Amino acid sequence: MASTDPKKIAEVRDVHRLERIGAHSHIRGLGLDDALDARMISQGMVGQNGARRAAGVILSMIQEEKIAGRAVLIAGQPGTGKTAIAMGMAKALGEDTPFTMLAGSEIFSLEMSKTEALTQAFRRSIGIRIREEAEIIEGEVVEIEIERPANGQAATFGKMTLKTTEMETMYDLGQKMIETIQKEGIAAGDIITIDKSSGKISLLGRSFARSRDYDAMGPQTRFVQCPEGELQKRKEVVHTVNLHEIDVINSRQQGFLALFAGDTGEIKSEVREQIDAKVAEWREEGKADIVPGVLFIDEVHMLDIECFSFLNRALEADSSPIVIMATNRGITNIRGTDYKSPHGIPLDLLDRMLIISTQPYSQREIRKIIDIRAEEEDVEMTEEAKELLTKIGTESTLRYAIHLITVANLVALKRKAQEVDVQDIRKVYSLFVDVKRSTQFLIEYQQEFMFSEVQDDEANES
Ligand code: ATP
Repeated sequence: MASTDPKKIAEVRDVHRLERIGAHSHIRGLGLDDALDARMISQGMVGQNGARRAAGVILSMIQEEKIAGRAVLIAGQPGTGKTAIAMGMAKALGEDTPFTMLAGSEIFSLEMSKTEALTQAFRRSIGIRIREEAEIIEGEVVEIEIERPANGQAATFGKMTLKTTEMETMYDLGQKMIETIQKEGIAAGDIITIDKSSGKISLLGRSFARSRDYDAMGPQTRFVQCPEGELQKRKEVVHTVNLHEIDVINSRQQGFLALFAGDTGEIKSEVREQIDAKVAEWREEGKADIVPGVLFIDEVHMLDIECFSFLNRALEADSSPIVIMATNRGITNIRGTDYKSPHGIPLDLLDRMLIISTQPYSQREIRKIIDIRAEEEDVEMTEEAKELLTKIGTESTLRYAIHLITVANLVALKRKAQEVDVQDIRKVYSLFVDVKRSTQFLIEYQQEFMFSEVQDDEANES
């Protein structure tokens, strides 16, 4: 059995060790039950029940493809899990629905205009499910010849003779085909299929000719007879790409290699128009569907008035993704204007949004999040240390408390301790100050710093 194979376990541990642990790596979904109610602790999520429930409703509307072009705003104080909820939604949506993440400040790049950057983000979040017909050949293997290089290297070339009812066909084998043949133990007498476009080989079963020892092969083996009649089949293959990928591949200036370099530059609007027309054609012919995905814009107050007006318009397109935004700002300036507005977002855009608000955490919830993070980071910690960290989290911020887990572990390791204890937390609490203490320090020593506005204001007043 795979799970008891010591080699396998070692491999899994090695991979784990190499993985860097991100701030939201413990989030595996929204942690909702079938009735969309939030479980207190589930899938790495703790508390914040109302917001998680609301996110769950949006999620099911996305999954049922009921809404497009809607905007959702998650608003709340710093560290109340806005990004965590968006990550939970991304995980719950799965791989097939495009999910693009962007911080508001990222669009102010010198390489391309703001609206181009937003357009690319929108088009990345729209999936195109393309159906293609593949030609599949089915038949019985007559003979396989694989050349074995003398120097012991893996074989990269070979030939296979396949018998269909009408004729025998000879195939040149590529490396991937050879690997499949060796892995599956494919030999003369087996019934296989070959996908002509991708060269993929699949074993359908063993023919009677090879089944003399079928008892030894176990119950999994399916026995089929060499098929008669129709041997060349057409099968449907479905794959999903996003609109931006199609743009880049078709933009002669860039070429598809730009996809790997990530350096796509600006794409001409004519290219996009042609692609939209082509996609519309595919849809009419039943060859493709549009899968509206999710665009998540964190720190949305960093966008300016031009970006907001772009969003207003872009949300109206019928293939628009769901745009989820997050902000921790109160009533503040709309960037690029002298006007103030809630969250720094113009009222006309706010009016189109469904707003979800997040609440500060209770001490119990902070404790649970710390437990989960300690486990995620593989840090052993005494009860007393966790309690102290929870107290720090309540009085300072949850983020600060989370950051202390890793550094406290390093300090504990240094003194060769197995577990992080109160002394380690105390040590790192004195080494790294939180915002409150840092501000206090600034107020006390403001004369020593450059550009201190408090000092300047006082000077002006006097
Ligand atoms: P900001 O406004 O500063 O961007 P935020 O509201 O986006 O803050 P997050 O970054 O989501 O806050 O949360 C801070 C940390 O706490 C992250 O590591 C996050 O994964 C974790 N966290 C927040 N809320 C929860 C929760 N409900 N369950 C589990 N972990 C959480």
